[in-house]
Amino acid sequence: MPTNYERVKAYRERKAAEDQTFYRRRTLWERYRISLEDWYALLDAQGNVCAICGTDDPGNKHGWHTDHDPITGVVRGLLCRSCNQGLGKFSDDPERLVRAADYLRRFGADDSIEGRRCAR
Ligand SMILES: [Zn+2]
Repeated sequence: MPTNYERVKAYRERKAAEDQTFYRRRTLWERYRISLEDWYALLDAQGNVCAICGTDDPGNKHGWHTDHDPITGVVRGLLCRSCNQGLGKFSDDPERLVRAADYLRRFGADDSIEGRRCAR
């Protein structure tokens, strides 16, 4: 008689074989309570680019980061790796992010990417 672990393992393997998106769907639901269809609808609504910087490159092999409010758990958008890490480094604190932008502007950075490039 199979153990519960073996039954669960067999179930997951069968589901994965039936549906290539099984694990993706499960992860999205368990972590964010969002369906795969809603996730794609969100990406489509963003124009298939990062919700912050607008790049069409997620920045890693795993694809877009599903950004969520760490307190409420609500999904806010899909971000590239850099923007997702940036928000995390600033503790998802809007005031801190605004102060960082003000800091950069004090030293002459303008709002274009080219304005922020080092001349080296
Ligand atoms: Zn980005």
